Amino acid sequence: MAARNGARVADNATRISRIKQGGRPVAAALFYPRDPRPIRVIRDRAPLRAATKRAPSLRARLCNATPARYNPSSPLDLPIKAGQASFRMVSGLITNIQRYSLHDGPGIRTTVFLKGCPLDCWWCHNPEGLAPEREVVTVASRCLHCGECAKACPEGVAVAGTTPERAVCVRCGACVRACPTGARQFAGTTMTVDDVLWEIDRDRIFYDDSSGGVTLSGGEPLLQLEFLLALLASCRQAGIHTAVDTCGFVKDTQLLQVAVLTDLILFDLKILDEARHREFTGVSNRLILDNLRQLSYRHPNVWLRVPLIPGINDAPDELDAIARFAASLSGIRQVNLLPYHRTGIQKFQRLNREYRLPNLASPSSEQMEAAADHFAAHGLKVRVGG
Ligand code: SF4
Ligand code: SF4
Repeated sequence: MAARNGARVADNATRISRIKQGGRPVAAALFYPRDPRPIRVIRDRAPLRAATKRAPSLRARLCNATPARYNPSSPLDLPIKAGQASFRMVSGLITNIQRYSLHDGPGIRTTVFLKGCPLDCWWCHNPEGLAPEREVVTVASRCLHCGECAKACPEGVAVAGTTPERAVCVRCGACVRACPTGARQFAGTTMTVDDVLWEIDRDRIFYDDSSGGVTLSGGEPLLQLEFLLALLASCRQAGIHTAVDTCGFVKDTQLLQVAVLTDLILFDLKILDEARHREFTGVSNRLILDNLRQLSYRHPNVWLRVPLIPGINDAPDELDAIARFAASLSGIRQVNLLPYHRTGIQKFQRLNREYRLPNLASPSSEQMEAAADHFAAHGLKVRVGG
């Protein structure tokens, strides 16, 4: 008889059943053919992965068996790479998964932040999502200046207490492993669709009670298109409401592909004037405006999100121009005005990047209300925040 643990169990087991408690799946049991006794009961994903490392197709079946709500067969023609047993094995680079969020869509939500963004906004509050690859950051307040990172660095570029220059760091992680306090960290974790679904599923009860769901944000989530589509398809199979937060600087065909699988699109529009948009975000807004036009005619539920940045886009003329443009589109269900806040500054320091608005204050609630009036005057439903 095969060994009762490790990869051989998974290789030889042919039957899997779910174990439920109070109607919710809590574990998966593995059986040999014609043997009613379970070989092994698996309650969490770590041993499941270890046991099935060398059996990707079985691993996919196991993963699909554990949370009972997911249908293991995909009706969608999603791109599957060699070695991936199902689209739930597609992996992406995630910077954070934020639970119990009351922003980024209706109800209580889980927001998944994907890494990589084509824009470089001066006011960005998620700079760890800018670069498309994993990078090293340093939390200076946790640093003991013990020098272990510098000793471990094979390139000789790690310096105690500061994040290494991006141009010279090869992101090998030796300093992260050597650091005794966790001051040195990686920004960005590789997760499969299945890993993310596991996190999402933990808060299912809150989505059901509050008409909430999952928001996929970033960075720009469409930069990881394959992963995004696979995650959206899985959420749809599971009956979970989805929102995608996009900057709109993406191919129109890709945006429409994503829109088909998404219940709500959160579309960010920063500045209408092209030259100023280029100055403060690094790119032209022509593609963004074209995409918003197309999307508003094809998707029934688009929320426009306008960050209010004092001195940059809060002049009455600018706000009127954005409001007029939004009112001319058919699918804009509401406008969310997002007040600038300074939470990104510390993150820029951790990443050893320059913050270009060091002295800018957040707008007052009166300024936000005055800005909201410009949108209401054009017949738009407007909300401050969210
Ligand atoms: S990630 Fe590697 S190359 Fe970069 S600072 Fe750390 S040890 Fe040096
Ligand atoms: S190893 Fe960690 S705690 Fe020690 S100097 Fe480097 S960053 Fe600071």
